Amino acid sequence: MPLRRAIAVLAATALIAIAPAAFAKTVVVRAAHMVDVIGQKRIDDAQVVIVDGRISAVGHKGDAVPAGATVIDLGARTLLPGLIDMHVHLTSDPRFSGYTSLQFTDQFSTVVGVANARRTLDAGFTTVRNVGSDGFADVALRQAIEQGEITGPRIVTATYALGATGGHCDTTELPPSLDRQWPNIANSPEEFRALVRKMHKYGAQVIKICATGGVLSKGDAVGAQQMTFDEMKAVADEAHMLGLRVAAHAHGTEGINSALRAGIDTIEHASLADDTSFRLAREKGAALDMDIYDDDYILAEGASNGVFPESLDKERVIGRKQRETFRAAHAAGVTLLFGTDAGVYPNGDNARQFAKMVEWGMTPIEAITAATATAAKYLDRTADVGAIATGRYGDLIAVEGDPLTDVRVLEHPVFVMKGGEVVKDAPGLH
Ligand SMILES: [Zn+2]
Repeated sequence: MPLRRAIAVLAATALIAIAPAAFAKTVVVRAAHMVDVIGQKRIDDAQVVIVDGRISAVGHKGDAVPAGATVIDLGARTLLPGLIDMHVHLTSDPRFSGYTSLQFTDQFSTVVGVANARRTLDAGFTTVRNVGSDGFADVALRQAIEQGEITGPRIVTATYALGATGGHCDTTELPPSLDRQWPNIANSPEEFRALVRKMHKYGAQVIKICATGGVLSKGDAVGAQQMTFDEMKAVADEAHMLGLRVAAHAHGTEGINSALRAGIDTIEHASLADDTSFRLAREKGAALDMDIYDDDYILAEGASNGVFPESLDKERVIGRKQRETFRAAHAAGVTLLFGTDAGVYPNGDNARQFAKMVEWGMTPIEAITAATATAAKYLDRTADVGAIATGRYGDLIAVEGDPLTDVRVLEHPVFVMKGGEVVKDAPGLH
């Protein structure tokens, strides 16, 4: 150890022994309003104290300010917990869909992910669940963010999405002579069980499966089931044994209901969910995670982005139906999450889904809760994220205006803090 550093360490050790509090980094954030997603109410003249990245007190202006604290007064703005998107693909760029994606080398997507991580955080999403990327790129992003090499949200990584041969998570657009063996394809309960273990070994914190066909995959029917009940049950049992939850891509009714019976935790897309699905979801404590914004983007930009014509046909059939299902699921009291499928539309536009959720039946506070407290519950991270509450990370955003009357203000956060560090700050804000 160089002498100067050795002296610094010795000095620090001595000081810690005398006054440990002197080393705590304390930040106090104040704002005229705050959304309390646990109490389901607005709090006025709010004050939040964050010590070493975690919230230590939530109160009101006028409460004690710890000595040495940095005070950030956000004036008339409204504070909210950092938002959570439960369905993103940070390493995907929608401008290169279908065959146009083949022009890039394999690591292009990882670099795209670096830029998208920043965009996502700037958009107010301090936590995301990345449900599928190739080459363990999501794990690389998470590690680089945790090491401070790049800036981005907290990422819950799924690694590869698992699926059957010829299914939505296979590569179906290439001829047999260009067939490539991917590490995420299985065809029996025992093969899927082995894949869960392998993805867990290499960094999966949630398991993603493709239970039915999809919109953007070539050659499959969007509603057709592609994994058997026994395969899904093997995945759910194995993942749960390892302490991981499972997310199932599922559009078709039979695939959704088989997934729910198999014990899958969250159903992604859920376009053709029916009354049986709603009952099963309630009974099992599962949630539906419905990406009801991206239909607008895919239909507007898909053709010029290279999306297969057959995929656009599928989207036209399924998009509107999915929104109607969302409204019915909400009315039936099913737990709904905020998940957008960012990556099939530009990462960073995540908050555009809030207005859709309100348009299709939710109140603003319900939509915000789906993207905070409820999302944290389905990540098993209620000790860390999803609310402005003592003990959780100092992940906060601020918006102009009142998100409880106009949810669109969430599309333009003026302030973003992650773990007590300011990561976005409008000039002249405080
Ligand atoms: Zn997706």
